[in-house]
Amino acid sequence: MNGFWCEEALIEADGGPTVATGVRLETQDGRIAGLTVGVTAEPGDQVLKGVVFPAAANAHSHAFHRILRGRTHDGRGDFWVWREQMYRSAGELTPEKYEKLATAVFAEMVVAGFSSVAEFHYVHHQPDGRPYAGKHGMELAVARAAMAAGIRLTLLDTLYLAGGIGAGGAAAPLSEEQVRFGDAGAHGWLERLGALRAEVSGAFPPEMVSVGAALHSVRGVPEQDLKIVADHLPADIPLHIHLSEQPAENDACRKAYGVTPAGLLARHGLLTRRLSAVHATHLTPEDIRLLGEAGSTVVMCPTTEADLADGIGPARALSDAGVTISLGTDQHAVIDPWIEMRALEHGERLGSGQRGRFTPGELLAAATDGAAAAMATPVMPAALRTGAVCDLMAVAPDSVRTAGSVAQQFAFSATASDVTDVVIAGELVASDGVHRRLGKPGSLLAEALKEFS
Ligand SMILES: [Zn+2]
Repeated sequence: MNGFWCEEALIEADGGPTVATGVRLETQDGRIAGLTVGVTAEPGDQVLKGVVFPAAANAHSHAFHRILRGRTHDGRGDFWVWREQMYRSAGELTPEKYEKLATAVFAEMVVAGFSSVAEFHYVHHQPDGRPYAGKHGMELAVARAAMAAGIRLTLLDTLYLAGGIGAGGAAAPLSEEQVRFGDAGAHGWLERLGALRAEVSGAFPPEMVSVGAALHSVRGVPEQDLKIVADHLPADIPLHIHLSEQPAENDACRKAYGVTPAGLLARHGLLTRRLSAVHATHLTPEDIRLLGEAGSTVVMCPTTEADLADGIGPARALSDAGVTISLGTDQHAVIDPWIEMRALEHGERLGSGQRGRFTPGELLAAATDGAAAAMATPVMPAALRTGAVCDLMAVAPDSVRTAGSVAQQFAFSATASDVTDVVIAGELVASDGVHRRLGKPGSLLAEALKEFS
C-alpha cells in the first residue's frame, strides 16, 4: 500500500473540517484507504509539505477558449464581439491541433490544483459539418488530452442545433461558423452520444474519462428538441446547459415562448437534480425558486463572468433556495481555483454591499464536492476522508500571499501559484508548477498556441 505524509491537511472531523498536523494517508486503487493524524512519515511515504487540501473540480470548461486569453481587449469588444473571435478560433481546430492544445490547457489546470474538469464540448465535426472518420475524432482527441495530463474528464457532449431563437420560436439556422457544432436533430445527437459513451467506456478508465451531456442553451436547442431530450436522455448521465448568461437570451426566450429559459426547462421536466445550469446570471425570483426546488447545481464562473461583463449571478440567493453551487473556469481568462473561490464572494460583496456572504468553508465546498452531481467522474469532498478518491493539492503557507493567513481562509489569500504539489488518483502528477510527465504548462501552451492565428 502506498502512502502520503502531509505536514498539515484539511480533514473531516466531528465539528466540521479541521487542519490537522502530521497526517498520513494510505492509498489503494487511487483512493484514500486509511487516514491517521499526529504521526510521522513511514519509510517510502511521499512527503507533501505545506497544507494539503482536496484538489478542486472545474465544473465548466471550453478548453479551446484558452486561445483568446489576453487577445480580445482591443477597442471596446463586448460579449458578442468576443463570441465572433471565439468562432474564428473554433474554425481552426482539428483533432490533432485540439489534442495538443487541450493537453496543455489540462496540464495548466492540473498544476493549478484541479483534478477534474467538465468539458462542455461542441466542436464535433469538420468545418463543413461532415463527421470525422470514425465519427468521434474530436471527442477522442479531447479524451486523450485529459489522459495525457492525468486529469479526470467529464466529456459533456453538447447538443447545438440552432443559431438562435427566431420569431415565434422558429429556430434560426446554424451560421456558417456554427455548422460544425450541429447534429442531425436531437435524435441524431442521442444516437451519437450513445455511441460515444460506448466507445469511451471501452477505451478509458471510467474514473478518469466519462461522458456526460449538455444542451448548449435555449438559444441553441429549440423547444421541440428540449422535449425529445427530456423524454430520451438516459437517466444516469449528468446534463449541463448555459442558462441566462445574457439578458438578450432571456428577452428572445420570453418573446418566443412566453417564459424565461429556466421556465422553459421546467415546462419540459428538465430542471432536476442531475441538471447543472451554467452561469445563471440573470434570473427572476421564480427562476431561483424553480432551480432550488429541483435541487439543481449551478456552475458559477466568476472570472469569466467578470471578463465578459455578463453580470453578477445571484449565488447566495440560489444557495439559500436549495441550489448546490459549483465553480468553473469556462473561457480560461484565469485558471485558478483559489481566485475563482474568491471572485465568487467578491461578486456577492460588490453586489450586496455586505461581507461574509459565503464562508471560506462554503467557498471550498463550491470548488470541490459542489461539482459532484455535475461530474460523471469522482469528485473530492471538501475535506480529506477515508474512502474518497486521493486527489490532493498542497499549498505553501509561507508564500508572499499566504504568509500569516489562517489555512482555512486561504480562499482569501492563496492563488494557484502557491500550489506546490498535486496528487490525482493517488499519483503525484505536478510539483511547483511543473507537470511531472509533461513539463511546464507555459511551454506546452506556447507551442500549441503557435498553431492558431
Ligand atoms: Zn460556457
